[in-house]
Amino acid sequence: MTPLPKKKRTRRQRGHNRAHQALSLPAVARCLSCGNTIRPHRACPMCGNYNGRTVPGKFPLTNRLESRQPVAATATEDAEA
Ligand SMILES: [Zn+2]
Repeated sequence: MTPLPKKKRTRRQRGHNRAHQALSLPAVARCLSCGNTIRPHRACPMCGNYNGRTVPGKFPLTNRLESRQPVAATATEDAEA
């Protein structure tokens, strides 16, 4: 015999249960290199950018941030000149 609930759950009890069942939207971020929408804390699937460098692998786009000089190095060069 199929197990059945012993008592009917009221509309109020049902509503209390369902109040916590809503789905949340996934967190999204923008890739600073190509502008693609990505999941945060993950490498970009289009250009492989992660924290200003390119992770190993083949990607359809090139990472524009990797060739850029670090900000600290350019600041010291300006001070010397
Ligand atoms: Zn990207």
